[in-house]
Amino acid sequence: MVDLLGQYSKIQKEVDQAILDVVRSSAYINGPEVKTFQKELEDYLDVKHVIPCANGTDALQVAMMALGLKPGDEVITASFTYVATAEVIALLQLTPVLVDVDPNTFNIDPESIKKAITPKTKAIVPVHLFGQSSNMDEVMKIAKEHNLFVIEDTAQAIGAEYTFNNGKTQKVGTIGDVGTTSFFPSKNLGCYGDGGAIFTNNDDIAKNIRMIANHGQSVRYYHDVVGVNSRLDSIQAAVLRAKLPYLDTYNTHRRKAADYYTKALQSVEWLETPVIDNQSTHVFHQYTLKTKGIDRFKLQEYLSDQGVPAMVYYPVPLHEQKAYKDDRYKKGDFPVTEQLCETVISLPMHSELTTEIQDYIIEKVKSFNN
Ligand SMILES: *Cc1c(COP(=O)(O)O)cnc(C)c1O
Repeated sequence: MVDLLGQYSKIQKEVDQAILDVVRSSAYINGPEVKTFQKELEDYLDVKHVIPCANGTDALQVAMMALGLKPGDEVITASFTYVATAEVIALLQLTPVLVDVDPNTFNIDPESIKKAITPKTKAIVPVHLFGQSSNMDEVMKIAKEHNLFVIEDTAQAIGAEYTFNNGKTQKVGTIGDVGTTSFFPSKNLGCYGDGGAIFTNNDDIAKNIRMIANHGQSVRYYHDVVGVNSRLDSIQAAVLRAKLPYLDTYNTHRRKAADYYTKALQSVEWLETPVIDNQSTHVFHQYTLKTKGIDRFKLQEYLSDQGVPAMVYYPVPLHEQKAYKDDRYKKGDFPVTEQLCETVISLPMHSELTTEIQDYIIEKVKSFNN
């Protein structure tokens, strides 16, 4: 699905040197690399504060803690997402309120958000799934009308840009009150272990986030609130510093590869190729097809036999997961999500795809007869 070794081999010298420098400096935790990476990511995103942390799940948890969300508060998020989003909501004893997604972009549906709002609603968490932005014009409008926080889960879309109805363009993750991301190795900007970050333009929220991610202290050994320990280590920061200058090139490559797949596969009648929203650049964290009238697990198995990996993101909607079953929801409540979970399949997508590899994958997909 990804080619991390191929990507590394092209920047090996820079990365090896960066790692060696950290090892020799012995500044393994909160070293200068972390501060410099923070600054460079702030410049790249054009956001006032970046707070690096240990992973994308922590980023969501710390963000929610920093906004002062309390047990019982309702947090609205998409039913079609990776589990981390709902997990931290549940861990903090907040109430996850799931809503359906748009059948074309797979992102949270604004009309469904409106219907889910109650007096207990405190926040909306749009997940910019598979690499493109949610409808942020609508999400921000609804949040403003109802005085809700917006936390953008940008783990799959770092580098994507959203253009508002008024023509203004912003990087995703910098639009809501807080944005979060993950540097898990296979993400569009991945390190060589775990990593994450939180973004905000709000000074007070930034201060809270820094304090909570650091054991609830802003002065050493004086703990004002209950916090957590969530740090990006210096070696990961050094790797990310080496890779950040290539992020746009990687994302452009992904877009071109997606375009190549789409041109070849759009004529296959049992497939629907991804829809690119006209207000968001798509950074194709995943290239996800909708299948029609075939058993996609058979397709997956067929491809696997031919040496082509393919994955189903995600086979089970949140409301049908054992851990998140809830009397409030039943099968049929989120028809779009349920349909997507039954029909989607993702093909290999990464910065190192060549047209030769893609031709092989395309040929194998087309030769599947169900
Ligand atoms: C990967 C991912 C996360 C979690 O990131 P980790 O660094 O693995 O904790 C959260 N949300 C989404 C949408 C993701 O894809």
